[in-house]
Amino acid sequence: MIEEKLKTIIRDIHDFPKPGIVFKDITPLLQHPEIVAEAVEAFADGLKDVEFDVIAGIESRGFLFGFLLAQKLNKPFIPIRKQGKLPFHCISESYKLEYGQATIEMHEDAFLPGTKVLVHDDLLATGGTVVAASKLIEKLGGEIAAYCFVISLDFLNSAGRLSRFSENVISLVRYQ
Ligand code: IMP
Repeated sequence: MIEEKLKTIIRDIHDFPKPGIVFKDITPLLQHPEIVAEAVEAFADGLKDVEFDVIAGIESRGFLFGFLLAQKLNKPFIPIRKQGKLPFHCISESYKLEYGQATIEMHEDAFLPGTKVLVHDDLLATGGTVVAASKLIEKLGGEIAAYCFVISLDFLNSAGRLSRFSENVISLVRYQ
């Protein structure tokens, strides 16, 4: 089963990026192309009944599987990036971090109003990042069709924060 395989490969890094934090590191997974392919297949399978037009991936680890999945499903890929990284006219959304705030951006011509967007990131923790991404997508007139993550930290109970945008949340690995 893909969840078990991924759980054995994803490693915990203690005290990164700050003391007290246990960081889930997916980089060892990238060394196993056959398991990466299985993970992409599992996303495609989980999404087979979801209608969507484009995939938006969040910088930077959301580009890895997001772009592979977009290629596999023959969908356009839209990068959502940290402020100041995208070259064309952008719309932006700020959100609170534990200390301070962050701003993410998307090109203002990323898609047309009414477009159904699948949002992808590597990991769902508090949900702050994907909620900001969802607001950005709604500003452009997009609809959130679903979310997909490699990992969700279910013990943080953040799926509720996403339900006002979409009830469809797919995670390959869940930590309870
Ligand atoms: P959230 O906004 O609290 O849901 O945090 C999710 C964002 O932070 C995602 O963009 C993740 O890439 C990143 N993130 C938070 N914790 C981890 C972790 O343990 N491993 C990898 N990325 C993480």
